[in-house]
Parts: sequence; structure tokens; C-alpha cells
Amino acid sequence: MTKYRVVVDKDKCIGAGSCVNLAGLTFRLGDDNKVELIDQDGNGDEEKLVAAQACPVMAIKIINTATGETVWPK
Ligand code: SF4
Repeated sequence: MTKYRVVVDKDKCIGAGSCVNLAGLTFRLGDDNKVELIDQDGNGDEEKLVAAQACPVMAIKIINTATGETVWPK
């Protein structure tokens, strides 16, 4: 199990695909060209964080489930 929980905001997503390229077992693009969550534990914590940081519109939030802290965005 991974420690970081991912929350995606479809309304913000512009379909740039960076998250899919970096963590393709966690995110995919749907038919509407918007991000979809496939599996919270598809990729490791570090990969999920890097993917979130690569999103140009900050549509991905990362929460540390161990501490409740928002890891990204800061
Ligand atoms: S990187 Fe951001 S804008 Fe691009 S598909 Fe992922 S969530 Fe959407």
C-alpha cells in the first residue's frame, strides 16, 4: 500500500497527459481527454508525487495518509 493518496480535479484538467506519462498505472486519460484515477496504488509514492508536480494546472493533489498533511500543492 502506498502512503500518498491522490485526488484529481477533472474540471481543472486540460488533458496534457504528463501525469499519465509519469505514472501510467495510477492515471489515464478518459474518452473526454480528462484525467481518471485507475488505481491509488498503481505507482509508488514518489512517482505519484512527481506526476502531480508535472501537472501544468495543478489538477492533482497529494495527501499523506499517515499524517493527513497535504504534500502537493504546497
Ligand atoms: S497532467 Fe494535469 S492536465 Fe495533464 S492529464 Fe494529468 S491531470 Fe490533466
